[in-house]
Formats: sequence, structure tokens, C-alpha cells
Amino acid sequence: MDIRVVKSAPDLLKEKPDENSLGFGQHMADHMFVMLYDESMGWHDAVIKPYENFSLAPAAMALHYGQAIFEGLKAYRGTDDKIYLFRPTDNLKRMNDSAARMCMPEIPVDVVYSAMKKLVALDKSWVPRAEGATLYIRPTMIASEAGLGVRPAKQYIFFIINCPVGAYYPEGFNPVKIFVTDKYVRAVAGGVGNVKTAGNYAASIMAAVEAQNQGYTQVLWLDAIERKYIEEVGTMNIFFLIDDELITPPLTGSILPGITRDSVLRLTKDWGLKVSERKITIDDVLAANEKGSLQEIFGTGTAAVISPVGELNYKGQVCTINKGNTGALARKLFTELQAIQNGHKKDPYGWVVEV
Ligand SMILES: *Cc1c(COP(=O)(O)O)cnc(C)c1O
Repeated sequence: MDIRVVKSAPDLLKEKPDENSLGFGQHMADHMFVMLYDESMGWHDAVIKPYENFSLAPAAMALHYGQAIFEGLKAYRGTDDKIYLFRPTDNLKRMNDSAARMCMPEIPVDVVYSAMKKLVALDKSWVPRAEGATLYIRPTMIASEAGLGVRPAKQYIFFIINCPVGAYYPEGFNPVKIFVTDKYVRAVAGGVGNVKTAGNYAASIMAAVEAQNQGYTQVLWLDAIERKYIEEVGTMNIFFLIDDELITPPLTGSILPGITRDSVLRLTKDWGLKVSERKITIDDVLAANEKGSLQEIFGTGTAAVISPVGELNYKGQVCTINKGNTGALARKLFTELQAIQNGHKKDPYGWVVEV
């Protein structure tokens, strides 16, 4: 499939925002990629063009029944001024897993990958230079067919938009406070918790708001049935270092299979750590903390890379983790992953590609 390119007129290019106050997802780069799907034609009309609004029917099925999926990855500017992507085809493959679960059409990975690289190259002046700042890439697919029957749509829009985002830790790599909810649940095996579909995030907002109102950054989710096994934290996977064993919950169908999670598993195994994907309860974690054997807790995800946890609140009980400090393993992983992502360090895994 050919990808048409319609460049923005030079006088219509947007002014770049201040790199030191980018926030997350507030500024859009000049161009976007759009591709249409129709049951009879398949994917067609692939185009890179100036970022602009869609014209969408009020009856578009995504708006009513939530056939909407997305991905999130980043473009990094190395000190060599080259632009790098981290495991981009893994994101596109995961998008196809999401598409299959939501009865949406699979995307042609090769076409979309090539479009993504072209788009980032065209807007490379949008990849920030400030320390820790990156260009966040958001591939998305929505059902665009107008109709109010509940069934798989016959028409879809796939698009990629890019936004420069600030360093996740402008004040340094500091631990966050986490609220463990036993009131709300995120997902259940057999549901859609293992795919990146819009409704999962809509369902999580109330718990996040309540946690934030009490001074906590994120929610730690427990399993939906017994409400004791640990699942994820906010929109990140979670790891525990207990007695020198690194533990993360297994992918049993209700957890998102994070690419950062997978990268952390790979690195730590190669470093010779004892690493386990196994079920762990909130009571196990709190007991280990009492005993003094809980060394670290951290979350993993594209946005933060590694997010150390310094405090848990469970049933009103406040537990301080590692005296509220960032652990050595979290710091080492953060440094190593960032060095690979920025092209500073040789990547033995084939994770990094130059745009
Ligand atoms: C995206 C996401 C993650 C992290 O995945 P990465 O591929 O590491 O960015 C974890 N949990 C949820 C719920 C997510 O949406």
C-alpha cells in the first residue's frame, strides 16, 4: 500500500512549546498518519497529512460501544542527535492482539511501521532535546461506521498522532505513594484487561480520582474475584524485590502484557537475578515488609519507564517501603533502559531502531 504524504504549508507549521513545561499529551506535532478500513475494501487511503480534526458521525460506533484500541511508545533523541524507537513492532503486534479481542480488523504491521517511521522523520524537529523529554507516539483505531446496533463495525479509522512530552521525573527519580483499592476492580480473566482498549481506562478513572483526593498518585489493583492477588498499578505493571527474588504477577488474562515489563524481565534474568512470574497477595507483600525482607517495589511502563513505590495504603494502614527511598535495582533498571532507549549504550537485544 502506498503512503501518500501531504506536508503542511511552511507558514502553517505550529510554534513549538517550551520544552521545559511540556506536561503529557497537551501538544500535538504538525502531522498525523491516517488510514481507513472498509469491510469491502480492506485498509486503504493511507496518508500522512497535517494534524486536523476528523469528521465523524454522531452515530459512529466507537462513541457508543467502545470499539477503540490504542498503543503508546516513544521516540528518543540520542546525544548523537539521531532519533530512536524502542521495540516499535512489539507495540504494533500487541495492537493486533487488541484488535482481535475487540473484533476489529488487524492492521498491516509493515505498512504501519513504515508510516510511523516516515511520520516521526517528518516531524523530527518535534522530538525534544531536553533531558528526559521524548516524543510520545499514539497509534489508535476506532470504529467509525454510523449505526446503533451492537455488533462489529464495518468501517474503522486507524491513526497515529505524536506529542512531545516532558521528563516524567522533573524533580528527580523519586518514589510515589500508592493506594491499594479493595473497593474497585480493573479487570477479570475472560474480560478485556489484557488488551489496550479505551473502556479499561474509563473504568479506572473513579478509583484514580478517589486515590488522588487522598494524596496518592496511583491505584494498585487487586484481582477481581478474591481481591487479594496483586495485578497492576495504575497503567503500569508491578514488581517486588523480596529476599533478593524479583517477583511480578503472571500474565493470566487480566493484566496488560507490558513491553517494559518484558524488558525488565529480560534484563534482570541476564544480570543473574532470581526472577519469578508468580501470584503474590497484598498480605504477602505487607508481611514481607513487616519482616524487613521487602526490599523494593516499582512499576514499569512506557511513560515512566520505572516508577519506584515509597508508600502503600491498604485498608487505612500506611506502609513505608524501603524507608520511602528509591531502591538500587529500580535505579539501575531506569538508568540501563534509558541508556538503551537513547542509543547511549549498545543494545544487545535488537530493541532499538533508528528512524
Ligand atoms: C500500557 C499499559 C501498561 C504498560 O505497558 P508498556 O508496554 O510497558 O508501556 C501496563 N498496564 C496497563 C493497564 C497499560 O495500559
